[in-house]
Amino acid sequence: MDEKLTCYICNKENNKGIVILNRYICRGCELEMMDTSYNELKFEGIRRKIKNIWKGVSLNIEEHSTG
Ligand SMILES: [Zn+2]
Repeated sequence: MDEKLTCYICNKENNKGIVILNRYICRGCELEMMDTSYNELKFEGIRRKIKNIWKGVSLNIEEHSTG
């Protein structure tokens, strides 16, 4: 029962992170996502991946625009 998951962003294997839309994100990348705005992310590839995840999240949440 000690299954390791592969981080969607950095491809590290561990099981201490979170799963968003079936994408596993390790703790380190989760913190980085919270801490860093898209524009400040160092790696274009990572930015694109995170963007894809949030796109899926907002589709699921059904955002209500309040102006
Ligand atoms: Zn990671």
